[in-house]
Amino acid sequence: MSQFINGTRRAGTSGQTKDVIDPSNGTTVETITLAGSDDVKLAVQAARDAFPAWSRATPAERSGVLIQFAALMAERAEEFAQLESRQAGKPIRLTREFDVPGTIDNIAFFAGAARNLEGKATGEYSADHTSSIRREAIGVIGSISPWNYPLQMAAWKILPAIAAGNTIVLKPAEITPLTSLLFAEVATEAGVPAGVINVINGRGSVVGAELLRHPDVDMLSFTGSTVVGRTVLEAAATTAKRVHLELGGKAPFVVFDDADLEAAINGAVAGSLINNGQDCTAATRAIVHRSLYNQFVDGVADLYSKVRLGPTADPATDLGPLISMDHRDKVAGMVDRARGYARVLGGGIPEGDLADGSYYRPTLVADATADSEIFREEVFGPVLAVTPFDTDDEGIALANDTPFGLAASAWTKDVYRALRATREIRSGCVWVNDHIPIISEMPHGGMKESGFGKDMSTYSFDEYTVIKHVMFDLTGEKAKAWHRTVFSL
Ligand code: NAD
Repeated sequence: MSQFINGTRRAGTSGQTKDVIDPSNGTTVETITLAGSDDVKLAVQAARDAFPAWSRATPAERSGVLIQFAALMAERAEEFAQLESRQAGKPIRLTREFDVPGTIDNIAFFAGAARNLEGKATGEYSADHTSSIRREAIGVIGSISPWNYPLQMAAWKILPAIAAGNTIVLKPAEITPLTSLLFAEVATEAGVPAGVINVINGRGSVVGAELLRHPDVDMLSFTGSTVVGRTVLEAAATTAKRVHLELGGKAPFVVFDDADLEAAINGAVAGSLINNGQDCTAATRAIVHRSLYNQFVDGVADLYSKVRLGPTADPATDLGPLISMDHRDKVAGMVDRARGYARVLGGGIPEGDLADGSYYRPTLVADATADSEIFREEVFGPVLAVTPFDTDDEGIALANDTPFGLAASAWTKDVYRALRATREIRSGCVWVNDHIPIISEMPHGGMKESGFGKDMSTYSFDEYTVIKHVMFDLTGEKAKAWHRTVFSL
């Protein structure tokens, strides 16, 4: 049963099915029935009906069910880890050590945060009035998520929305729907009332598009590509919906001449290969001072050649497949074109036991110029482009020479250089001497064409709540003093 609407699983009504494929070996994990128009209507209605009671529940009540949810998910952690690994082709070590514990921590965080929704102090900002602020839930959130971190993206969309008292209809990517469904189901078992979380699984261009334009959806929250993000903005205009967009990235990794080279090499390998490079914050553009450039290229290429590709169920596997054969071919095509203008080290499609999966070897593209495709476009694979720079000004300018602005890192031991880089690089996050770590208390979100708004942290409540000003007259007088500016008798 592929839909989760009003607290129960049901089949989709489109009359179409889709196989969820394990990209490591091409086998079918599950065949789902795709959602149709009726599912969108039912799910939005369920969310609308659940909104009054859920938004009026006390923070302690909402927090209480999230505490139960975190505990129940912890009990079922291995089930989530296995399912996420199979549907998304992630090595089991990654889902056990990153996706699942990160999600449980997120639930626990929002259980606490639900009781800490803040507003400005009540006060007399005019001598004749008392003003106060109400921070209220927005209503029904229509949310669409991508395939690269299906479970974490579902959690990042659902948790702040419901912790703040909204209800939600989530449409995950149609190729990786299974853990979003399980997430909603376990939340409901833990006590989240029916209708608060609904999951519809169907094609983006069909049910996704319908969800975006539904008049009873109050806000759109989208994580995915910048191209589809523009569609979301256009759809939002039809009924003036609030929008939160988490879009693509092309993160710079800037290595200054005083950097710890070994740390930078290890950081570049981990930062570029996390989730097989299918990570919007992955290090994709290494911008390295010329004095360290050759050693950096040799060091990363050497470590890349030692990374173990293998079956995703094997805890010894470092790198799994890309999400699909189509996506692998896209990555391979970009690397092949780069051979014409840069130096490609590593890469290629492995043969033998891994031939049935969409595997691709880690690839370093050295001497990539700033205007080249590999340096500018999102590859979303295990590919790191490297280019040298001579002055700090040049390094920072190269880092900013992109339409994206999601994440970046600066590698230096000099505190002034680090401060300059964190101030001048235009992205939603800048790491210093590391690249990738995220934490529930801190926001995730971009600037420029990487979108706007924040996931995680209490900053996400700024997206999922609306501020209302309430003003009381203090005088009790029939004719207020200010009336004379309009009429005087
Ligand atoms: P995508 O934009 O192709 O799809 C994302 C979602 O949108 C899917 O659920 C899809 O079904 C749906 N969709 C597609 N066309 C639609 C339409 N016309 N109307 C409504 N919905 C539609 O992205 P993807 O390939 O699934 O994911 C990869 C992208 O996501 C990358 O660009 C990556 O950088 C980005 N991403 C960003 C973040 C972030 O936090 N900024 C996090 C993860 C992924």
